[in-house]
Amino acid sequence: MKKFEDIKKVAVVGAGTMGNGIAHVFAQNGYEVHLIDVSKPALERAVETIKKNLNRLLKKEKIDEATKEKTIRNITTFDNLYDGIQGADFVVEAATENPEIKFELFRDMDKWLDEDVVLATNTSSISITTIGAQTNRPDKVIGMHFMNPVPIMKLVEVIRGYNTTDETTELVFKLSEKLGKVPVEVNDYPGFVANRILMPMINEAIQTLQTGVAGVKEIDTVLKLGANFPMGPLQLADFIGLDVCLAILNVMYEGFKDPKYAPNPLLVNMVKAGKLGVKSGEGFYDYSESKKAEKVSAMFKK
Ligand code: NAD
Repeated sequence: MKKFEDIKKVAVVGAGTMGNGIAHVFAQNGYEVHLIDVSKPALERAVETIKKNLNRLLKKEKIDEATKEKTIRNITTFDNLYDGIQGADFVVEAATENPEIKFELFRDMDKWLDEDVVLATNTSSISITTIGAQTNRPDKVIGMHFMNPVPIMKLVEVIRGYNTTDETTELVFKLSEKLGKVPVEVNDYPGFVANRILMPMINEAIQTLQTGVAGVKEIDTVLKLGANFPMGPLQLADFIGLDVCLAILNVMYEGFKDPKYAPNPLLVNMVKAGKLGVKSGEGFYDYSESKKAEKVSAMFKK
């Protein structure tokens, strides 16, 4: 297996919300990054976002001009997986959360990459063991679950599939630490740890709203001021995306066959109605004028 010291070139597959952040942190820490996406516009947007975030860090004096320039130079984009992964020493997959897409990507990467390369996935909810089973190297397949926004959030949930070895886990720990992150080891069960605890809380907040116990602002204020949360659970759900919350709850509901994970019908209805939170302009809050969750959605006005 490739040693930590031998890892120079990192392929990041998927250049969306998470992929651009993951590419950014590897590039800023000296890795040569190949950022790969099937969509050219997604690659262009990703590079723009990385530049914008680097400028913000520069303004705050967290990095200097030379680091900014070097980070940008360290990133090359590819709209073709085969070309993009050539020579990669390590891969983080952050493509769309769809099992079929990920399974195909892992089958291809397994075919096209040296057998000593570790393949990590940023999936929020798909089984690492099942992804590993698509390959001939399940011992070298692992979850590397970054949090959004990647350049800011410290945690990396490192998820061991059934066959993942200690050596693979150690490598991902070292890489995470090199990026200035704090890795935490967890096992491969639905929702892992972060979502296993976060999503039932969000679901309960939605149930609290749906049963008329309190309003949107009230629920969020109680948790912000009462539990010192930086963001209330309903605002957080809007930020994550209500479709994403629903999908993760469904994975846990099906995975454990336990009704405690059943998504609240209000959440299901909102997703059906296209109210997905910040990204669609409306969820529990109305984002048409500001992204700061200052205005409760008209649906929930008392
Ligand atoms: P996104 O929709 O913003 O981006 C996904 C990107 O993958 C898109 O640009 C799409 O064009 C690309 N893509 C699709 N199929 C591809 C393929 N075959 N090859 C290359 N690129 C492909 O999604 P995201 O929010 O960045 O999520 C990516 C992954 O990260 C998912 O597995 C998700 O569960 C996980 N995740 C998301 C968050 C979050 O808060 N958004 C947090 C942690 C983990």
